[in-house]
Amino acid sequence: MARYTGALVNAIPDMTQGRVDYLRLSVTDRCNLRCTYCMPAEGVPARSHDDILSYEELAAFARVAAGCGISKVRITGGEPLVRHGCVDFVGMLGRTSGIHDISLTTNGVLLPRYAADLRRAGLRRVNISLDSLDPERFARLSRGGRLADALAGLDAAFDAGFSPVKVNALLLEGVEDELDAFVALTREREVHVRFIEFMPLDRRLGEQGRLVPAAEILQLLKDRHELVPHEGPYGHGPAQYWHAPGALGTIGFIAGVSEHFCESCNRLRLTADGRLRTCLFSGDEVAIRPLIARPDELRDAIRAAVSGKSFDRCREQRANQRAMSEIGG
Ligand code: SAM
Ligand code: SF4
Repeated sequence: MARYTGALVNAIPDMTQGRVDYLRLSVTDRCNLRCTYCMPAEGVPARSHDDILSYEELAAFARVAAGCGISKVRITGGEPLVRHGCVDFVGMLGRTSGIHDISLTTNGVLLPRYAADLRRAGLRRVNISLDSLDPERFARLSRGGRLADALAGLDAAFDAGFSPVKVNALLLEGVEDELDAFVALTREREVHVRFIEFMPLDRRLGEQGRLVPAAEILQLLKDRHELVPHEGPYGHGPAQYWHAPGALGTIGFIAGVSEHFCESCNRLRLTADGRLRTCLFSGDEVAIRPLIARPDELRDAIRAAVSGKSFDRCREQRANQRAMSEIGG
């Protein structure tokens, strides 16, 4: 991947070509849960507040990124809602020219407290990570989280009027036994469940049991339920969706490991400590914090990173030394 160098500053034309239009902004690497597949049990080493980009810096980055073709921003983490001021940050992004779509990925636990304010601040849609509808399995996967808290977050998302509301469920061993419950959820509520293949990016986390391919779960679902293909909700990205006739919501799959969708990737990622990444699977990062005060250089750094972005063979890079909670998923 191309790294920013001073020599590139004037040589790089607009390389985004409308293709990379989506930015995932991690606002913190801290979290109120410790999901086994995402964080070590002891958490990630806490970065000091000074190491984390301020909201003003994040907004300044988003402003310049918007000038490079970014129009959609997802706020993520860690758990974004544990960071003070997240609601105001949504408002800041909403006032950024060129950013037309702001979304949030959350474990839902703090949504009862913040959902209405987030909606008022301009957030339209949320993704809630909810890997299990069984209280014991949920607690095991999140190392002590309470399913009731996440479900209260789901309720709060609907009460606040977010649309669409998507649920992310990782395909981990044991999910086979929960398929009827997830289908039932889509029958009761206009919720878009997306089963996501586990990506073994972080060797420090150890084994997560059998890797469950999306195709296997789709087949199990089809064996038990009538499902028809569906175009899915707005912002469907790499997911493929299905629908049980009469259901309010949909079931989708994101097969990031067993199927190759790197060539259609439209994403940039910014870590909470200010490192720009163009690929989830690659360890390549560009430290952009020093450039935030110099927008022209920042713009050229973003364009250089995008022009060097790999749309192929990404999974072979795998030189990742960060937890997903640090990258933002
Ligand atoms: N705390 C928030 C949450 O859980 O939604 C936002 C951050 S979390 C890192 C973002 C997404 O990454 C979640 O949907 C989570 O399931 C997903 N994720 C974490 N580790 C993963 C892994 N190893 N493979 C695939 N997805 C992963
Ligand atoms: Fe926290 Fe989200 Fe990672 Fe779970 S998936 S540990 S909730 S950051």
